This record gives sequence, C-alpha cells and structure tokens, in this order.
Amino acid sequence: MVGREVSPADHQHKEVRQALKQLVDKGWVLRKEGHWGRLYCPCDGGCTSISVPGTPRDPHQAARRIERRAAWCPLPEDDPRRISGGGVVV
Ligand SMILES: [Zn+2]
Repeated sequence: MVGREVSPADHQHKEVRQALKQLVDKGWVLRKEGHWGRLYCPCDGGCTSISVPGTPRDPHQAARRIERRAAWCPLPEDDPRRISGGGVVV
C-alpha cells in the first residue's frame, strides 16, 4: 500500500530533514509508510526506494545512509537491486 505524501519538514531530526529536503527538491517523492516514511526515486521506472526511520538511534547515520542510497539512482536496467526487478527494500 502506498501512503500519502509527507513533507521533509515533518521529520523530528534536523539532519534527516535536510537530507530528505535535498532529495525531494530533486524530484524524489516521500510517502507515509512503514515506521515513518519511504522515499521513491524520480527516474523512469522508479529504480530505488529508501526507508526513512522516524526515530533513528543515530540521526547523523540515518541521514548519511539516505544520501548514500540515493546515489544509487539511476540503477542500470539489469541491476538486481531495482525495485521493479524483484523488490529492493533498503
Ligand atoms: Zn531511480
């Protein structure tokens, strides 16, 4: 199920908010899902999604992890991590 869109500003940690906002500004979509939310990449076919924890133990780590995974997009057509190719959940 796909949740409603949420705003990066709704996140309680500043570092995570900043990471989210940068991506949303680039076209990523943030939706209410799971423990807090999930980011969907803007490329054709939507190759990557990233889970966003609402209460990360380490907000700095969480923000860096989101930025690192966002760098995957766009994944090549045959990359096994693509969500359309078997369900990447990161
Ligand atoms: Zn992508």
